[in-house]
Amino acid sequence: MWRPIIVMSLLFCSAGVVRSAESEAKAKESATGIEAKTLGLQHVRGFLPLHWDAKSGKLYLEIPRLASDFLYLTSLPYGLGSNDLGLDRGQLDEPRVLRFERFGSKVLLVQPNQYFRSSAGDAAERLAVRQSFPESVLAGFKIEAEGGGALLVDATDFFLRDAHEVLPVLTANKQGSYRLDPLRSAIAMENTRAFPKNTEVEALLTYVSDAPEANSHVAEVTPDVHAMTLRVHHSFVELPGPGFTPRRFDPRAGFFALTYRDYAAPLGSPLTQQFIVRHRLLKKDPACLTACVAQQPLQYYVDRGAPEPIRAALIEGARWWDQAFQAAGWAPGTFRVDALPEGADVMDVRFNIIQWVHRYTRGWSYGFPLADPRTGEIIKGNVTLGSLRSRQDYLIAEALLSPYVTGHTLRPDNDPMLAMALARTRQLAAHETGHTLGLEHNFAASSFPHTPLESVSVMDYPHPWIVLDKDGVPDLSQAYGVNIGVWDKVAIDFGYRQFADAGAERAGLEAILGGAAKAGMYFMSDDDSRPLGGAHPHSHLWDNGADPAAELTRIMQIRAAALLRFGENAIPMGAPLAQLEDTLAPLYLMHRYQTEAAVKEIGGLDYRFQLRGDGQGNAAIVDPAEQRKALHAVIATLSPEALALPESLLKLLPPRPPGLPRTRESLPAATGLTFDPIAAAESAADLTLAGLFEPHRAARLMEYSGRAAGPTLDEVIDAALAVNRPPKRPSGNRGLYGAVQSAVYVRTVEALLTLAADSQSSSLVRAVLFAKLDEIKQRAEAGSQVEAYVSYRIDQFLEDPKKFVVAAPVPAPPGMPIGDEGE
Ligand SMILES: [Zn+2]
Repeated sequence: MWRPIIVMSLLFCSAGVVRSAESEAKAKESATGIEAKTLGLQHVRGFLPLHWDAKSGKLYLEIPRLASDFLYLTSLPYGLGSNDLGLDRGQLDEPRVLRFERFGSKVLLVQPNQYFRSSAGDAAERLAVRQSFPESVLAGFKIEAEGGGALLVDATDFFLRDAHEVLPVLTANKQGSYRLDPLRSAIAMENTRAFPKNTEVEALLTYVSDAPEANSHVAEVTPDVHAMTLRVHHSFVELPGPGFTPRRFDPRAGFFALTYRDYAAPLGSPLTQQFIVRHRLLKKDPACLTACVAQQPLQYYVDRGAPEPIRAALIEGARWWDQAFQAAGWAPGTFRVDALPEGADVMDVRFNIIQWVHRYTRGWSYGFPLADPRTGEIIKGNVTLGSLRSRQDYLIAEALLSPYVTGHTLRPDNDPMLAMALARTRQLAAHETGHTLGLEHNFAASSFPHTPLESVSVMDYPHPWIVLDKDGVPDLSQAYGVNIGVWDKVAIDFGYRQFADAGAERAGLEAILGGAAKAGMYFMSDDDSRPLGGAHPHSHLWDNGADPAAELTRIMQIRAAALLRFGENAIPMGAPLAQLEDTLAPLYLMHRYQTEAAVKEIGGLDYRFQLRGDGQGNAAIVDPAEQRKALHAVIATLSPEALALPESLLKLLPPRPPGLPRTRESLPAATGLTFDPIAAAESAADLTLAGLFEPHRAARLMEYSGRAAGPTLDEVIDAALAVNRPPKRPSGNRGLYGAVQSAVYVRTVEALLTLAADSQSSSLVRAVLFAKLDEIKQRAEAGSQVEAYVSYRIDQFLEDPKKFVVAAPVPAPPGMPIGDEGE
């Protein structure tokens, strides 16, 4: 197929349209050009052949076809291991459709505009669109030789450039002024290969700095901060052939969307076209109705770098997806997961890969569907899982169980912490793999009706399900669901069921989503769930159950029971006692996510992504009684009963010994070397207050209290102040309890001042706040230090709100990801 296109274009470029003896002679003459030029070099045959000149360190790229689209992407086989900079091992960049075009003695690497298109049959119409929007020329090459219809260029500089844009990341993260040093950069031939459908080139790049930032993230992970060496991988991939049918996007189905504009769309129909991102999966027998065998099963491989028992857990978890494909009419074994065969390269684009990466600090895992930007067809699924996550899971379990009663570490076959960490690993593998099947998060899923062990969706962020056993001891045996979830089956049915024709497909897809809605299942996206100001009462991260307020109260009881038992038994014999401080942190703050969930009921709106006529219910303000129940549960997280730690525990927390410095996972301390229970309480309170007094929520309270007699902003403020208001005539030493109460009262008033000073706050919200702040001042008891201080802060604000400096929250250790989740 390619020969005629190339021929046609050469004619155009060089000598006009006549096919003369002369041009034939030229072709024979040029056929030897490349051979002559690459004589004695190392030849790498494949999709785009390569010729390596080991002496000069030059890598020549042979271009067998012009004006023919292919996929190009870069990735990072060797990462930086710093979560903050996010340049992870295995990170993939957005794929691009490129083509080579010849202009005289040059070849240009062109990126056509995929977003502005025309599906018109008429060439003039298509040209009009092409000429209306810019393309991008990513590189230009001088033609070194040509022959047999192919061209040869020196692509060394192209491969040794900052293709993965590491420098902008270093600059944006203020790591100091770095530059790429060509002298310390080279082509890595050991990982430069070519395969029938793809050519892979690896470059070793050294970024140097004479003035690196002291204590930078680069310094944390690099042997010498003046020279950071990474490897960047370039992949040239044959685009999939015909036979893939894009499926229309539906906002109710939970799939990633491919979006572009089609200027050939008839008037009255949408200009913007949207299709779901999915793998190609075709029946061997098109007439087959159930348990259909696929022409090409979906094969995934787990990185051999993952140690046992983690590797087995990754394989087992990812294999759960076969259950969903079977429910969508496919035969068992349509979705397969195995360990990567020896010698196979995780970078080879033909393999869907589940990869295990190590970092300096705990970070996110992610699943990335590498899709054809023309059609949305997924070409490669790429999952990256952080190894530190299991250690965080293990730590949470240790804090909850205080298991080292004998002081000894537990045997693997009798280790509930390990069991929980592995259960989470299975879920996580399934979750990230789900992204590479085209699925978005569905954060409403945990509210769908289900039994504790039944999974509703691996595409939600699950909080470990913890119960108290008959002796009041936390039980983690059902911490994480097993198997694929009922929502996951709906999503795969929507994305991968094959229908007889377009009509059957339209009706069939509507029936799938309609059936799910009747069963109480629906999709809710990240944007509706992540923001602190989110309004949806049932779509949250790391929460459980359909009743956020009741679940918060339940979690607070478990937290209290675990804190009561928390002590030396949370660490093995011989461990520094100060280590208890870090084991305590995730337990002390374990209610943070369920609190966010309950807060969203206050001023909440229950809604669906409704399409006209699809039978789904209209948006509804959360029932006032539910809102008040949530308010009550949330306020309890601010109480000194919940936040003041027992003396019996505090005396077990000595200052940290050498070799065990505080880290970002430690609770804050204003007391220097010693553990600070008051700052810990303030950081927990600030997490609750940030959600409760969030500008969008406050504005909704103003509206909904009018429309539906829900709680007013005044009511919420009064409740928050009442729980910690200093007693009228404080008598004598009220102990840590009193100190925590005073400290949280100050944080509460600071949160009100922050809301009042927030440029996003509506005028009605400000009106309420100004009145409340004045009320606090009026009520201030003479002689009460705390009330005198908050009055002073209020005066500062009232003096000039614009100049007022809000108090920064007392920083809590990063919570997310618990059990690690992707983006
Ligand atoms: Zn995710």
